[in-house]
Amino acid sequence: MDSLGIYIHIPYCAKKCPYCDFFSESYNKKSVMHYTESVVRNLKYYSRERIVDTVYFGGGTPSLIPAECIGKIIDSVRENFILSENPEITLEVNPNTVNADKLADLYSMGVNRLSVGVQSLVTSELKTLGRTHSAEKAVETVINAEKIGFKNISCDMIIGVPNQTIESIEYTIENLCKLPVTHISSYILKIEKNTPFDNPDFISHMPDDDTVSDMYLFMVNELEKRNFMQYEVSNFAKYGFQSNHNNKYWKCHDYLGIGTSAHSCFEGKRFSVPPDIKSFNENAFQKTVITDENPCGFQEYAMLRLRLKEGIDVSKHPEIISKTPELLKAGYINFDGKKISLTPKGYLMSNSVIEYLVF
Ligand code: SF4
Repeated sequence: MDSLGIYIHIPYCAKKCPYCDFFSESYNKKSVMHYTESVVRNLKYYSRERIVDTVYFGGGTPSLIPAECIGKIIDSVRENFILSENPEITLEVNPNTVNADKLADLYSMGVNRLSVGVQSLVTSELKTLGRTHSAEKAVETVINAEKIGFKNISCDMIIGVPNQTIESIEYTIENLCKLPVTHISSYILKIEKNTPFDNPDFISHMPDDDTVSDMYLFMVNELEKRNFMQYEVSNFAKYGFQSNHNNKYWKCHDYLGIGTSAHSCFEGKRFSVPPDIKSFNENAFQKTVITDENPCGFQEYAMLRLRLKEGIDVSKHPEIISKTPELLKAGYINFDGKKISLTPKGYLMSNSVIEYLVF
Protein backbone atom coordinates (compact mmCIF):
# COMPACT_ATOMS: atom_id res chain seq x y z
CA MET A 1 0.00 0.00 0.00
CA ASP A 2 1.22 3.54 -0.82
CA SER A 3 2.27 5.77 2.01
CA LEU A 4 -0.45 8.11 3.20
CA GLY A 5 -0.74 11.91 3.27
CA ILE A 6 -2.80 13.60 5.96
CA TYR A 7 -4.50 16.94 5.35
CA ILE A 8 -5.73 18.96 8.34
CA HIS A 9 -8.11 21.82 7.62
CA ILE A 10 -7.89 24.76 10.04
CA PRO A 11 -11.02 26.83 9.33
CA TYR A 12 -10.14 30.16 10.93
CA CYS A 13 -9.06 33.47 9.38
CA ALA A 14 -8.38 36.86 10.95
CA LYS A 15 -10.21 38.57 8.12
CA LYS A 16 -11.89 37.22 5.01
CA CYS A 17 -10.07 38.08 1.75
CA PRO A 18 -12.51 39.41 -0.85
CA TYR A 19 -11.54 36.87 -3.54
CA CYS A 20 -11.65 33.74 -1.39
CA ASP A 21 -14.46 31.22 -1.20
CA PHE A 22 -12.73 28.71 1.08
CA PHE A 23 -14.61 27.83 4.21
CA SER A 24 -13.41 29.73 7.28
CA GLU A 25 -14.76 31.59 10.29
CA SER A 26 -13.31 34.29 12.54
CA TYR A 27 -10.72 33.25 15.06
CA ASN A 28 -11.99 32.38 18.52
CA LYS A 29 -9.62 30.78 21.01
CA LYS A 30 -12.24 28.63 22.74
CA SER A 31 -13.50 27.28 19.45
CA VAL A 32 -9.92 26.58 18.27
CA MET A 33 -9.15 24.54 21.41
CA HIS A 34 -12.32 22.54 20.94
CA TYR A 35 -11.57 22.09 17.24
CA THR A 36 -8.03 20.83 18.00
CA GLU A 37 -9.46 18.18 20.34
CA SER A 38 -11.90 17.13 17.63
CA VAL A 39 -9.07 16.76 15.09
CA VAL A 40 -7.12 14.63 17.58
CA ARG A 41 -10.22 12.49 18.28
CA ASN A 42 -10.67 11.91 14.56
CA LEU A 43 -7.03 10.99 14.03
CA LYS A 44 -7.52 8.32 16.70
CA TYR A 45 -10.64 7.10 14.93
CA TYR A 46 -8.77 6.62 11.65
CA SER A 47 -5.72 5.13 13.41
CA ARG A 48 -3.88 2.70 11.07
CA GLU A 49 -0.63 0.79 10.77
CA ARG A 50 0.17 2.91 7.74
CA ILE A 51 3.19 5.01 6.93
CA VAL A 52 2.41 8.72 6.81
CA ASP A 53 5.04 10.68 4.91
CA THR A 54 3.25 14.02 4.47
CA VAL A 55 1.09 16.15 6.74
CA TYR A 56 -0.40 19.37 5.39
CA PHE A 57 -2.06 22.07 7.49
CA GLY A 58 -4.24 24.13 5.16
CA GLY A 59 -7.06 26.55 5.67
CA GLY A 60 -8.21 29.03 6.54
CA THR A 61 -5.11 30.27 8.26
CA PRO A 62 -3.33 27.51 10.19
CA SER A 63 -0.64 29.97 11.32
CA LEU A 64 -3.32 31.86 13.26
CA ILE A 65 -3.86 29.15 15.84
CA PRO A 66 -1.49 28.57 18.78
CA ALA A 67 1.61 26.53 17.92
CA GLU A 68 0.75 24.12 20.78
CA CYS A 69 -2.40 23.10 18.88
CA ILE A 70 -0.32 22.28 15.81
CA GLY A 71 2.09 20.34 18.05
CA LYS A 72 -0.76 18.35 19.60
CA ILE A 73 -2.05 17.38 16.17
CA ILE A 74 1.40 16.30 14.93
CA ASP A 75 1.87 14.22 18.10
CA SER A 76 -1.47 12.60 17.47
CA VAL A 77 -0.47 11.69 13.90
CA ARG A 78 2.67 10.11 15.37
CA GLU A 79 0.63 8.17 17.94
CA ASN A 80 -1.98 6.88 15.53
CA PHE A 81 0.02 6.20 12.34
CA ILE A 82 3.61 5.35 11.48
CA LEU A 83 5.14 8.75 10.83
CA SER A 84 8.01 8.23 8.38
CA GLU A 85 11.56 9.17 9.30
CA ASN A 86 11.62 12.38 7.27
CA PRO A 87 8.03 13.39 6.78
CA GLU A 88 7.15 16.57 4.90
CA ILE A 89 5.06 18.63 7.35
CA THR A 90 3.70 21.78 5.71
CA LEU A 91 1.84 24.66 7.28
CA GLU A 92 0.19 27.52 5.39
CA VAL A 93 1.26 30.87 6.78
CA ASN A 94 -0.29 34.30 6.54
CA PRO A 95 2.65 36.69 7.13
CA ASN A 96 0.61 38.86 9.49
CA THR A 97 0.02 36.03 11.93
CA VAL A 98 3.61 35.04 12.74
CA ASN A 99 6.72 36.51 14.28
CA ALA A 100 10.12 34.85 14.71
CA ASP A 101 9.08 33.25 18.04
CA LYS A 102 5.97 31.66 16.60
CA LEU A 103 7.92 30.34 13.61
CA ALA A 104 10.51 28.88 16.01
CA ASP A 105 7.75 27.19 18.03
CA LEU A 106 6.21 25.69 14.89
CA TYR A 107 9.64 24.46 13.77
CA SER A 108 10.35 22.86 17.14
CA MET A 109 7.02 21.04 16.94
CA GLY A 110 7.97 19.36 13.69
CA VAL A 111 6.69 21.67 10.95
CA ASN A 112 9.46 21.67 8.32
CA ARG A 113 7.85 23.24 5.27
CA LEU A 114 6.03 26.57 5.07
CA SER A 115 3.68 27.79 2.40
CA VAL A 116 3.68 31.56 2.78
CA GLY A 117 0.77 33.56 1.32
CA VAL A 118 2.88 36.34 -0.17
CA GLN A 119 0.59 36.90 -3.21
CA SER A 120 2.57 39.92 -4.46
CA LEU A 121 5.46 42.13 -3.42
CA VAL A 122 3.76 45.21 -4.88
CA THR A 123 1.91 47.24 -2.25
CA SER A 124 -0.91 48.41 -4.54
CA GLU A 125 -1.62 44.79 -5.62
CA LEU A 126 -1.76 43.60 -2.00
CA LYS A 127 -4.23 46.41 -1.34
CA THR A 128 -6.37 45.48 -4.34
CA LEU A 129 -6.42 41.88 -3.11
CA GLY A 130 -7.55 43.04 0.33
CA ARG A 131 -4.51 41.46 1.98
CA THR A 132 -3.59 42.97 5.32
CA HIS A 133 0.16 42.23 5.26
CA SER A 134 2.80 44.41 3.65
CA ALA A 135 5.44 43.28 1.16
CA GLU A 136 8.08 43.95 3.86
CA LYS A 137 6.29 41.68 6.32
CA ALA A 138 6.16 38.87 3.74
CA VAL A 139 9.89 39.21 3.05
CA GLU A 140 10.66 39.34 6.78
CA THR A 141 8.64 36.15 7.35
CA VAL A 142 10.65 34.21 4.76
CA ILE A 143 13.97 35.53 6.09
CA ASN A 144 13.05 34.71 9.70
CA ALA A 145 11.91 31.23 8.70
CA GLU A 146 15.23 30.49 7.04
CA LYS A 147 17.21 31.79 10.04
CA ILE A 148 15.20 29.47 12.30
CA GLY A 149 16.10 26.49 10.16
CA PHE A 150 13.30 26.03 7.60
CA LYS A 151 14.93 24.70 4.45
CA ASN A 152 11.78 24.23 2.44
CA ILE A 153 9.80 27.43 1.95
CA SER A 154 7.08 27.86 -0.64
CA CYS A 155 5.46 31.19 -1.52
CA ASP A 156 2.12 31.83 -3.21
CA MET A 157 1.67 34.57 -5.76
CA ILE A 158 -1.34 35.72 -7.77
CA ILE A 159 -1.45 36.99 -11.34
CA GLY A 160 -4.32 38.55 -13.27
CA VAL A 161 -4.92 41.24 -10.64
CA PRO A 162 -6.51 44.53 -11.83
CA ASN A 163 -3.81 47.06 -12.82
CA GLN A 164 -1.06 44.44 -12.55
CA THR A 165 1.52 44.67 -15.33
CA ILE A 166 4.21 42.44 -16.79
CA GLU A 167 6.74 44.73 -15.08
CA SER A 168 5.08 44.38 -11.68
CA ILE A 169 4.98 40.58 -12.04
CA GLU A 170 8.66 40.66 -12.93
CA TYR A 171 9.32 42.75 -9.81
CA THR A 172 7.57 40.22 -7.56
CA ILE A 173 9.30 37.25 -9.18
CA GLU A 174 12.73 38.86 -9.14
CA ASN A 175 12.46 39.77 -5.46
CA LEU A 176 10.86 36.49 -4.39
CA CYS A 177 13.62 34.55 -6.11
CA LYS A 178 16.28 36.52 -4.21
CA LEU A 179 14.84 35.06 -1.00
CA PRO A 180 15.61 31.57 0.37
CA VAL A 181 12.54 30.15 -1.37
CA THR A 182 12.43 26.62 -2.81
CA HIS A 183 8.93 26.48 -4.31
CA ILE A 184 6.44 28.93 -5.81
CA SER A 185 2.72 28.41 -6.44
CA SER A 186 1.28 31.00 -8.79
CA TYR A 187 -2.45 31.24 -9.30
CA ILE A 188 -4.55 33.24 -11.74
CA LEU A 189 -7.09 35.39 -9.90
CA LYS A 190 -10.57 34.00 -10.46
CA ILE A 191 -13.81 35.62 -9.49
CA GLU A 192 -15.58 33.13 -7.24
CA LYS A 193 -19.34 33.32 -6.98
CA ASN A 194 -20.78 35.29 -4.06
CA THR A 195 -17.45 36.75 -2.95
CA PRO A 196 -17.06 40.55 -2.61
CA PHE A 197 -15.10 40.59 -5.91
CA ASP A 198 -18.11 39.12 -7.67
CA ASN A 199 -19.53 42.50 -8.63
CA PRO A 200 -19.67 44.34 -11.97
CA ASP A 201 -17.44 47.21 -10.86
CA PHE A 202 -14.55 44.97 -9.78
CA ILE A 203 -15.00 42.65 -12.74
CA SER A 204 -14.80 45.60 -15.14
CA HIS A 205 -11.24 46.23 -13.90
CA MET A 206 -10.06 42.64 -14.44
CA PRO A 207 -7.47 42.14 -17.21
CA ASP A 208 -8.82 40.46 -20.37
CA ASP A 209 -8.01 36.85 -21.31
CA ASP A 210 -5.21 37.78 -23.74
CA THR A 211 -3.48 39.90 -21.12
CA VAL A 212 -3.76 37.11 -18.53
CA SER A 213 -2.36 34.60 -21.05
CA ASP A 214 0.62 36.89 -21.68
CA MET A 215 1.13 37.24 -17.93
CA TYR A 216 1.01 33.47 -17.41
CA LEU A 217 3.48 32.68 -20.19
CA PHE A 218 5.78 35.46 -18.99
CA MET A 219 5.61 34.17 -15.42
CA VAL A 220 6.45 30.58 -16.46
CA ASN A 221 9.43 31.80 -18.44
CA GLU A 222 10.72 34.13 -15.71
CA LEU A 223 10.45 31.46 -13.01
CA GLU A 224 12.14 28.81 -15.15
CA LYS A 225 14.96 31.27 -15.97
CA ARG A 226 15.55 31.38 -12.21
CA ASN A 227 15.54 27.56 -11.83
CA PHE A 228 11.99 27.26 -10.55
CA MET A 229 10.90 24.54 -12.95
CA GLN A 230 7.24 24.13 -13.70
CA TYR A 231 5.98 20.72 -12.59
CA GLU A 232 2.24 21.44 -12.51
CA VAL A 233 -0.16 24.01 -13.98
CA SER A 234 0.42 26.44 -11.08
CA ASN A 235 3.47 25.01 -9.31
CA PHE A 236 7.20 25.58 -9.71
CA ALA A 237 10.07 24.13 -7.71
CA LYS A 238 13.80 24.14 -7.43
CA TYR A 239 15.29 20.71 -8.05
CA GLY A 240 14.19 18.27 -5.32
CA PHE A 241 11.57 20.58 -3.81
CA GLN A 242 8.28 19.59 -5.43
CA SER A 243 5.44 19.33 -2.93
CA ASN A 244 5.26 15.65 -1.96
CA HIS A 245 1.86 16.21 -0.41
CA ASN A 246 0.24 17.93 -3.37
CA ASN A 247 1.75 15.36 -5.72
CA LYS A 248 -0.45 12.79 -3.96
CA TYR A 249 -3.55 14.66 -5.18
CA TRP A 250 -2.40 14.67 -8.79
CA LYS A 251 -1.12 11.09 -8.76
CA CYS A 252 -4.26 9.57 -7.22
CA HIS A 253 -2.38 8.45 -4.12
CA ASP A 254 -4.14 8.10 -0.78
CA TYR A 255 -4.69 11.12 1.43
CA LEU A 256 -6.91 11.51 4.45
CA GLY A 257 -8.52 14.87 5.17
CA ILE A 258 -9.54 15.77 8.71
CA GLY A 259 -11.66 18.79 9.56
CA THR A 260 -14.43 20.90 8.13
CA SER A 261 -14.54 20.92 4.33
CA ALA A 262 -11.54 18.58 4.09
CA HIS A 263 -11.48 16.13 1.16
CA SER A 264 -10.08 12.61 1.14
CA CYS A 265 -9.15 9.93 -1.33
CA PHE A 266 -8.75 7.15 1.17
CA GLU A 267 -8.78 3.39 0.88
CA GLY A 268 -10.82 3.27 -2.30
CA LYS A 269 -13.28 6.14 -1.76
CA ARG A 270 -13.43 9.87 -2.18
CA PHE A 271 -15.29 11.72 0.54
CA SER A 272 -15.60 15.19 2.02
CA VAL A 273 -16.57 16.71 5.36
CA PRO A 274 -19.35 19.32 5.48
CA PRO A 275 -18.19 22.91 6.17
CA ASP A 276 -19.65 23.14 9.66
CA ILE A 277 -17.45 23.66 12.73
CA LYS A 278 -20.29 23.06 15.19
CA SER A 279 -21.16 19.70 13.69
CA PHE A 280 -17.47 18.72 13.47
CA ASN A 281 -16.99 19.55 17.16
CA GLU A 282 -20.21 17.98 18.37
CA ASN A 283 -20.02 14.66 16.56
CA ALA A 284 -17.82 11.91 17.94
CA PHE A 285 -16.35 11.45 14.45
CA GLN A 286 -16.48 13.69 11.43
CA LYS A 287 -19.50 13.27 9.19
CA THR A 288 -18.44 12.37 5.67
CA VAL A 289 -20.20 12.56 2.34
CA ILE A 290 -19.00 10.03 -0.22
CA THR A 291 -18.29 11.84 -3.48
CA ASP A 292 -16.91 8.90 -5.46
CA GLU A 293 -17.30 5.18 -4.67
CA ASN A 294 -14.74 4.17 -7.22
CA PRO A 295 -12.15 6.90 -7.76
CA CYS A 296 -9.11 7.04 -9.98
CA GLY A 297 -10.48 5.43 -13.12
CA PHE A 298 -8.64 6.25 -16.34
CA GLN A 299 -10.43 9.53 -17.06
CA GLU A 300 -9.88 10.95 -13.61
CA TYR A 301 -6.33 9.64 -13.48
CA ALA A 302 -5.53 11.22 -16.86
CA MET A 303 -7.20 14.52 -15.98
CA LEU A 304 -5.17 14.85 -12.80
CA ARG A 305 -1.97 13.49 -14.26
CA LEU A 306 -2.07 15.87 -17.23
CA ARG A 307 -1.82 18.75 -14.78
CA LEU A 308 1.69 17.50 -14.13
CA LYS A 309 4.62 18.22 -16.41
CA GLU A 310 5.53 14.53 -16.36
CA GLY A 311 2.22 13.86 -18.12
CA ILE A 312 0.81 10.42 -18.86
CA ASP A 313 2.31 7.29 -20.30
CA VAL A 314 0.26 6.36 -23.37
CA SER A 315 1.48 2.77 -23.63
CA LYS A 316 -1.52 1.57 -21.61
CA HIS A 317 -3.93 3.94 -23.37
CA PRO A 318 -2.94 3.93 -27.05
CA GLU A 319 -6.41 5.15 -28.06
CA ILE A 320 -5.53 8.74 -27.19
CA ILE A 321 -2.58 8.84 -29.61
CA SER A 322 -4.96 9.48 -32.51
CA LYS A 323 -5.93 12.78 -30.88
CA THR A 324 -2.41 14.15 -30.64
CA PRO A 325 -1.67 15.55 -34.14
CA GLU A 326 -3.98 18.56 -33.90
CA LEU A 327 -2.88 19.42 -30.36
CA LEU A 328 0.77 19.09 -31.35
CA LYS A 329 0.20 21.39 -34.31
CA ALA A 330 -1.43 23.98 -32.04
CA GLY A 331 1.50 23.79 -29.60
CA TYR A 332 -0.66 22.61 -26.70
CA ILE A 333 1.13 19.34 -25.93
CA ASN A 334 4.49 17.61 -26.00
CA PHE A 335 4.51 14.00 -27.20
CA ASP A 336 7.69 11.93 -27.49
CA GLY A 337 5.97 8.74 -28.60
CA LYS A 338 5.65 7.52 -25.01
CA LYS A 339 4.40 10.38 -22.87
CA ILE A 340 1.97 13.21 -23.42
CA SER A 341 2.27 16.38 -21.38
CA LEU A 342 0.87 19.88 -21.72
CA THR A 343 3.00 22.87 -22.75
CA PRO A 344 2.57 26.21 -20.91
CA LYS A 345 0.30 27.28 -23.78
CA GLY A 346 -1.65 24.04 -23.29
CA TYR A 347 -1.95 24.72 -19.56
CA LEU A 348 -3.75 27.96 -20.37
CA MET A 349 -6.39 25.89 -22.16
CA SER A 350 -5.98 22.89 -19.87
CA ASN A 351 -9.67 22.14 -19.35
CA SER A 352 -10.47 21.97 -23.06
CA VAL A 353 -7.21 20.24 -24.03
CA ILE A 354 -7.61 17.56 -21.36
CA GLU A 355 -11.27 17.06 -22.18
CA TYR A 356 -10.44 16.64 -25.89
CA LEU A 357 -7.73 14.09 -25.11
CA VAL A 358 -9.51 12.07 -22.48
CA PHE A 359 -13.20 11.97 -23.39
S1 SF4 B 1 -7.20 33.63 1.15
FE1 SF4 B 1 -6.46 32.53 2.95
S2 SF4 B 1 -6.39 34.11 4.56
FE2 SF4 B 1 -7.69 34.93 2.92
S3 SF4 B 1 -9.78 34.34 3.52
FE3 SF4 B 1 -9.01 32.73 2.15
S4 SF4 B 1 -8.18 31.18 3.49
FE4 SF4 B 1 -8.39 33.08 4.73
